[in-house]
Amino acid sequence: MKKVERQRRFVQQHIALFRCPVCRQPMAAVVENSLTCVNGHQFDFNKHGYLHFLNGAANTEYGRSMFESRRQLLTAGLFKPIVSAVNQLLPARELNILDVGTGEGTPLAQLAQLRENPGDTMVGFDISKPGVTLATQLPVTAFFCVADLRQLPFADHCFDLLLELFSPSDYQEFNRVLADDGMLVKVIPNANYLVELRHLLYGEGDRNYHYDNTAVVDLFREHYPNSQVKRVQYQFNLPAGMQEALLEMTPLHWGKNAKQLTDQELAALTAVTVDVSLLIARKK
Ligand SMILES: [Zn+2]
Repeated sequence: MKKVERQRRFVQQHIALFRCPVCRQPMAAVVENSLTCVNGHQFDFNKHGYLHFLNGAANTEYGRSMFESRRQLLTAGLFKPIVSAVNQLLPARELNILDVGTGEGTPLAQLAQLRENPGDTMVGFDISKPGVTLATQLPVTAFFCVADLRQLPFADHCFDLLLELFSPSDYQEFNRVLADDGMLVKVIPNANYLVELRHLLYGEGDRNYHYDNTAVVDLFREHYPNSQVKRVQYQFNLPAGMQEALLEMTPLHWGKNAKQLTDQELAALTAVTVDVSLLIARKK
């Protein structure tokens, strides 16, 4: 079956998951190449097979090469222990899973592999077209779309799990689409995340030399006072030749004061620390 056809069928089967981001009313039908809401707003499947829910162009700095670098590192297993830790939190029953800011989709695909539950319904969205285009090429039974975090094209209370890896949040929207017994897992970097690279790129006096996630944790706790934190920390051995990709996939090097690294400095980087917190909230 062609990719576009597969995605069309997914939306047809799961049309109740979707909501019109323009008028906030239910979707009515998939007709030919479009999904249409009860008020006639129309969203087209593009040639890659995904739906584009944004009004106008997205303002994002993440280009295709960043996502290709990310794909390389994630396929090599950079985030696998994180995905595995998320998987351990999940009940065995069938779940509707939403991956917020899915990027090029590899973590969701890896979670699908670990779940081995063909009954799960998986949806990933991102504001970036290059990311979602790459995601739709993954051999995974998941639906991907381009959407805005602040105007989710999904119905109320329809997801059992919201997963978020290094993505911004809109807790009001999250609570709206999360089932009453649903769970939110937000993965954020800790101070030592890729610290080896950080210290190569920034001098000790630079504000980027240290990273502090306190504000993010505090805001999460404000919204979810009963939330828990699970720390996941490990060393990742960089496969030969992937140093450039690591540099490319991380926003660290965007800082104005980032040092231009020499080939030798990069080549000497053979392992990096991955240190993250899983912020876990249950709605009730
Ligand atoms: Zn509408």
